Amino acid sequence: MKPRALVIGAGIVGAACAAELARAGFAVVVLEAAHPSAGATACGMGHVVAMDDSEAQLELTRTSRSLWEELLPELPENIEATRAGTLWVAADDEELAAVHAKHAYYLTRGVNAEIHDQHSLRSLEPHLAPDLIGALRVPDDLVVYPPCAAAWLLALSGAELRVGLAVERAEARRVLLHGGVALEGDLVVVAAGEHSLPLVSPALPLHGIKPRKGHLVITDRAPGFAQHQIVELGYLKSAHSHDGSSVAFNLQPRPNGQVLLGSSRQYDRTSDEVEPAMLRRMLERAFRYMPKLRALPAIRAWTGRRAATHDHLPLIGKVGAEGPWLAAGHEGLGITTSLGTARLLSSLIAGTTPPFDPRPFDPQRLCAEASHG
Ligand SMILES: Cc1cc2nc3c(=O)[nH]c(=O)nc-3n(C[C@H](O)[C@H](O)[C@H](O)COP(=O)(O)OP(=O)(O)OC[C@H]3O[C@@H](n4cnc5c(N)ncnc54)[C@H](O)[C@@H]3O)c2cc1C
Repeated sequence: MKPRALVIGAGIVGAACAAELARAGFAVVVLEAAHPSAGATACGMGHVVAMDDSEAQLELTRTSRSLWEELLPELPENIEATRAGTLWVAADDEELAAVHAKHAYYLTRGVNAEIHDQHSLRSLEPHLAPDLIGALRVPDDLVVYPPCAAAWLLALSGAELRVGLAVERAEARRVLLHGGVALEGDLVVVAAGEHSLPLVSPALPLHGIKPRKGHLVITDRAPGFAQHQIVELGYLKSAHSHDGSSVAFNLQPRPNGQVLLGSSRQYDRTSDEVEPAMLRRMLERAFRYMPKLRALPAIRAWTGRRAATHDHLPLIGKVGAEGPWLAAGHEGLGITTSLGTARLLSSLIAGTTPPFDPRPFDPQRLCAEASHG
């Protein structure tokens, strides 16, 4: 008899954990309140990107990106995996200095990157505004279509998927459903995105994850309009703002020729509705970087919520001394980091050498922060 793992949540993180636990010899049951990818996973952009907000973030994103890279030959066509690469574009001298600093840092960490000046940037992406003065190209970054990637990982795991089951409480070896019904397992993984902490409260403080609303717009088909995922260097400033709202230029060419545009960030929003003022602000930002976008018809806009932690790192590890295990709080990087998260969690469960230092991700840091006010 295989040991039994109960995974709560069928987003990309739950799906990746299910696949990794199955690989480690568990019989996996995935419990999902709605349907697979019902949360942030179906709303995101699917940019698989090395990010260097902190040393820990770079370790997690770099490892995860390599794991996606290893899977590329196996991924079915509907995941639309492309090696688009990322262009981080600089609008002024300060940002160009940041391009050089990022380049030097990436080289020391084994992340391929190349600097482009104003001229070569124009030949890479002719529709960019002519006053942009340079860019860092990270050729190994990828793009995937998240809902199909999650579905594929779930299928790969061979997990028993139970949909329409909202878990009310997660413990070390059992979950409680509505009406006091309990399901037992050898271990429990909470991967319910922004809804994770209520399931383990009060062991961890509820405010450890805050929803952060984001808008996206997709245009009509314009094949060849852009080749790379193009992001303004100021993107991290937007990702860092702890209050208020922010926008940043973030463009993704879809394989069918559509252009997907982001991004916005807002805390304290209770409604999922598209907000015209925020959409306008986001699009004006995009037009500043790529004026020809004005000519493309936008055919759909939507919003999603990122599960944000205060230090921009997900919560991966055991809750308390006994469990359950937690994999949540991936903010705007959960598609990228799902595979690294699952690999780390599986090694912590097995007690084997982790792929990178697990300490910055330990969920217990929320308790230390809470006790320090
Ligand atoms: C606008 C936007 C753009 C983004 N772009 C990118 C990007 O380019 N690259 C990237 O890497 N990331 C991106 N992200 C982030 C990424 O989408 C998320 O980090 C990721 O999808 C989180 O996955 P998850 O499985 O943790 O959570 P979710 O996808 O939210 O899944 C959680 C699942 O748990 C279920 N659930 C909740 N409560 C319960 C319960 N009590 N019982 C049972 N099931 C429950 C939900 O129904 C849901 O299916 C973006 C996000 C947004 C909003």
